[in-house]
Amino acid sequence: MNPIGAYPPELQAQALQLLEAGQLADWLRRRFPGGVHGVRTDGALYDYVQALKNAHLRNAPPIQKVAYDSKMRVLEHALGMHTRQSRIQGSKLKAKRDIRIASLFREVPEPFLRMIAVHELAHVREREHDKAFYALCCHMQPDYHQVEWSVRLYLLELQRHGTMEWTTTG
Ligand SMILES: [Zn+2]
Repeated sequence: MNPIGAYPPELQAQALQLLEAGQLADWLRRRFPGGVHGVRTDGALYDYVQALKNAHLRNAPPIQKVAYDSKMRVLEHALGMHTRQSRIQGSKLKAKRDIRIASLFREVPEPFLRMIAVHELAHVREREHDKAFYALCCHMQPDYHQVEWSVRLYLLELQRHGTMEWTTTG
């Protein structure tokens, strides 16, 4: 699957040029010099997502569970997976939400993690990838679209080279 297949051809050509020249990793490192974030555990991820929700979507339905998922394939799930579970509780039908985030987002700069968390959170309110959905994403992360593009370039780099170091070790 091509991570950047849905983007304009000129943009794809620029990205592939960087990739072929072996400069894409450096381009990404320059753009995100902060290195890998510190949200290591499912507990820390839950707190991270909850803090975003409290800041921007306080009145949205509660999130039940948040976890990294090592089996999740990022692109097949449109950069994330969302499950909406309906449970019968007494006579009430209550929608509960789980948020799963592919484990590869454990080893990325914080803006990448934020982008995927923002994407999943936006689905709590908006089901489809429509205008309202992306407006909500941009409300939570003003440079959402630029970061999503960079995440896709990172996936492209991983497809080609298998791995990428975020900090240069001298
Ligand atoms: Zn989505």
